[in-house]
Amino acid sequence: MLRVAVIGSGPSGCYTAQSLIQLDPEVRVDVLDRLPCPYGLVRYGVAPDHEKIKSLQGSLRTVLEHERVRFLGGVRVGGPGGLPVQHLRGLYHAVVYCVGAATDRRLGIPGEELPGSWSATEFVSWYSAHPDAADAGFLRGVRTAVVIGVGNVAVDVTRMLVRGAAELRPTDIPQAALDTLAASGLTEVHMVGRRGPAQARFTTKELRELGALPGTEVTVDEADLALDPADPGALPAGPRRNVEVLRAWAARPATTATRRIRLRFFLRPVELLEDGGRVGAVRFERTAPDASGGVTGTGRYEDVPAQLVLRSVGYRGVPLEGLPFDPASGTIPHQEGRVLRDGVPSPGEYVAGWIKRGPTGVIGTNRPCAKETVTTLLADAPALGRAKVPEDPVAALRAAGIQPVPWDGWLAIERAEAELGARLGRSVVKLADWDALLGAARVP
Ligand code: NAP
Repeated sequence: MLRVAVIGSGPSGCYTAQSLIQLDPEVRVDVLDRLPCPYGLVRYGVAPDHEKIKSLQGSLRTVLEHERVRFLGGVRVGGPGGLPVQHLRGLYHAVVYCVGAATDRRLGIPGEELPGSWSATEFVSWYSAHPDAADAGFLRGVRTAVVIGVGNVAVDVTRMLVRGAAELRPTDIPQAALDTLAASGLTEVHMVGRRGPAQARFTTKELRELGALPGTEVTVDEADLALDPADPGALPAGPRRNVEVLRAWAARPATTATRRIRLRFFLRPVELLEDGGRVGAVRFERTAPDASGGVTGTGRYEDVPAQLVLRSVGYRGVPLEGLPFDPASGTIPHQEGRVLRDGVPSPGEYVAGWIKRGPTGVIGTNRPCAKETVTTLLADAPALGRAKVPEDPVAALRAAGIQPVPWDGWLAIERAEAELGARLGRSVVKLADWDALLGAARVP
């Protein structure tokens, strides 16, 4: 009987566990996560107002509650204080790394580190109650924000910036973030793409949602749309629908809404400008479309004043000590999911999800990705199964000074979040710090 560790309990980890139990009638799977809470980016990345996507937790839960699957939270693999990869490898017949892309891409321009300039992932972590996220005073004194990038994360943070208390209160957003967003004096968000509307990465459903926010007007410059030479009829369905939505918005008359989202295109960030020790504006260079979907600089510049800048230019994988890493793609090199060490397949070590294929695709993309990896793993199983591994790795984890949080601990956190919500007159409200989470998890 094969014993497999899956590292990470986000969608890719859960789908990997699911494929394993579906394709092997005997396998036992431990799903390890460094947090005491499961679900990865479904809990800590999907925006609180996207309740339908969040409800996916229900199907991921079914996997983690399967009789041959065990959730072990609070187990860090690699890094300071973490269980070394080599040690972990000796505890299981196979290990599948589903650790996602834990950091953000950089712009690499002057001023990026100024106070008031944050990665979108830092902002998302804060409103999602990630226990490592700090309240950085994101909205203090902010009237105008610039969001750099036009992907779905940019849409999420733009929408969250303008959402009112009435819309956020029914969600599980932590109370401090709700209070801060509700009291914010922000009136304008510029969401800015370096290429044209036809090259934007957001999906039409997410784009349309921006146009339906109460008390908020969305504007698009006709000039940006006219600049794009693409014939909408010749575009693939997604970009074509995006361009249609943007054209309809550009044609709408102005309203008296109190908040405004300005969608801008063909502006490439070149510098963040300082004002009084913090960010005061973003300097953009105007770009022009080339014939192949890219852009070239025009040598003309535009400064957009902003007291908050959210850089939403994509996630990036981080290296895990003891495993190979390709810095160019931010992924672990692999062949059909099997980790490659110096180009040579390493049976017993596998990858799935964003650390395998890079930070793209929707949650469902992880299903076929996980299945490919599990098929590869099971092809190696006859040889892997011959290794001697401990009957129960938890004893070895404890001996290494790690106290895993079991599924019951997570259920106790869920109860504590429901109780907190009831005390605040809301539904479930997330616990936002390590002490609260671990305190709740240890309740008998
Ligand atoms: P993304 O889709 O890759 O978008 C990144 C954006 O940043 C693009 O507009 C890109 O422009 C821009 N960019 C990159 N480097 C830049 C630079 N140096 N200067 C200016 N702009 C730059 O990434 P994401 O928004 O982080 O999303 C990650 C994945 O999660 C995506 O697959 C997304 O669909 C998914 N997601 C889905 C949802 C949902 O379904 N509701 C919500 C959140 C995230 P270029 O195109 O020109 O490179």
